Amino acid sequence: MSDEKFVLAIDQGTTSSRAIVFNHSGQIVSTGQMEHEQIFPRAGWVEHDPKEIWTNVREVVGLALTRANITHRDIAAVGITNQRETAVVWDKTTGEPVYNAIVWQDTRTDKIVAELGADGGAEKYKKQVGLPLATYFSGPKVKWILDNVDGAREKAEAGDLLFGNTDTWVLWNMTGGASGGVHVTDVTNASRTMLMNLDTLSWNADIAADMGIPMSMLPEIRSSSEVYGHGREGGMVPGVPIAGILGDQQAATFGQACFEVGMAKNTYGTGNFMLINTGTTPVPSENGLLTTVAYKIGDAPAVYALEGSIAVTGSLVQWLRDNLGIISSAPEVEELAKTVEDNGGAYFVPAFSGLFAPYWKSDARGALVGLTRYVNKGHIARAALEATAFQTREVLDAMNADSGVDLTELKVDGGMIANETLMQFQADILGVPVVRPQVAETTALGAAYAAGIAVGYWSGEQDVIDNWAEDKRWEPTMDAAERERTYRLWKKAVTRTFDWVD
Ligand code: ADP
Repeated sequence: MSDEKFVLAIDQGTTSSRAIVFNHSGQIVSTGQMEHEQIFPRAGWVEHDPKEIWTNVREVVGLALTRANITHRDIAAVGITNQRETAVVWDKTTGEPVYNAIVWQDTRTDKIVAELGADGGAEKYKKQVGLPLATYFSGPKVKWILDNVDGAREKAEAGDLLFGNTDTWVLWNMTGGASGGVHVTDVTNASRTMLMNLDTLSWNADIAADMGIPMSMLPEIRSSSEVYGHGREGGMVPGVPIAGILGDQQAATFGQACFEVGMAKNTYGTGNFMLINTGTTPVPSENGLLTTVAYKIGDAPAVYALEGSIAVTGSLVQWLRDNLGIISSAPEVEELAKTVEDNGGAYFVPAFSGLFAPYWKSDARGALVGLTRYVNKGHIARAALEATAFQTREVLDAMNADSGVDLTELKVDGGMIANETLMQFQADILGVPVVRPQVAETTALGAAYAAGIAVGYWSGEQDVIDNWAEDKRWEPTMDAAERERTYRLWKKAVTRTFDWVD
């Protein structure tokens, strides 16, 4: 038996839950992963079963420990990272969710959002919380549950219900659940609820009252790196400190070592999320970006970010697979796209959940334009990949405008970066190099670092910087005139999706 210790990260994502064991060099030792069901009860609704998520988390932790041939005694700390905004409401005495988790992509709260904005408009709370009113965030989802689930509001008002994003749900269950679990979240997750003041990092009672959400439901807000509690006796990691929480995009920013003002990363998963470090003061956006908390390490001041969130990127590839059946696996999209030279004039704007950054139009819906009889499924596959790159360009332009500095390269991560055709096109459309790190699981890695730093396993951010290493870089090769021509057509295609919902 060696004395070597490890850190375990739990990544509770949108499509799957993963557990990853990391060693002291920040290398992956083992992984466990399980997908969970995506529940689509109606057009625009997306749900997950919180109980299934919790069962899967336990399962994947067991898998990761077994595959690393270690036990909980070899784990120095556990970090949690999670799909943000996804709202779970549960009964604190039975541990039973009162409704499925309402997922971040879900648009059922569009009426609630419109009502809240009736006086004050979409930017009503932006000054306090850094976010425009949109279906994306947790607060309106909690209101929907309290308004629509029988008896929920009475129970909530009696103090019997708890709310959390999936970090809080997993942590509460890991630390004891109904028999004494801690009800805590971190500043990054709290910054996605629409209920937290960005400057004081505390709940805003007025906004909670506007949404009819009792304060007793809200978890305690803590830093991203400190001991929140320990694994419960009889659980999967008994006695092990749970010491890091970061929302998935913030975790990736941390894992990519974006510690200096102006450093940015872009994650290509179900959706795309670009974050740029803006330092210890929140910067309001004039260009459709969100102001959010990037991380807060223990007692150190919080570090903020501007974020460009794109709802649909990798999930468009899933849609080609599941709804059109023109590919049978996600990686096949690259082969299909390579059967043609270019997009054949087709542009695919996947506004399936409305448009997020920089437009924030809940009533937009998807469009495939520029079609002629010439266009075949290869062109559609290519247009789908290009959509990810064009949307990223729109976000990058907004970041350059907000920050006043032009990004000189982009660090990337997430499932889609395996696609080299996309990465080359991305560099071409941005006109800056795209850089992939050796450890592409930056989300889990960031959560591991936050936990490991809290217990002294790593000494601090310098260890993260020292462990970061480049794997591959794509340089732009497209000529500037062609870049601007195709981007102009994309922008025109986007306008075709506006104002679609009656
Ligand atoms: P998340 O963390 O959001 O669940 P991941 O980072 O695991 O997502 O990425 C999964 C997404 O990447 C899926 O939406 C899938 O369609 C897409 N994807 C995976 N491999 C490829 C590929 N080779 N080309 C394009 N898209 C891909």
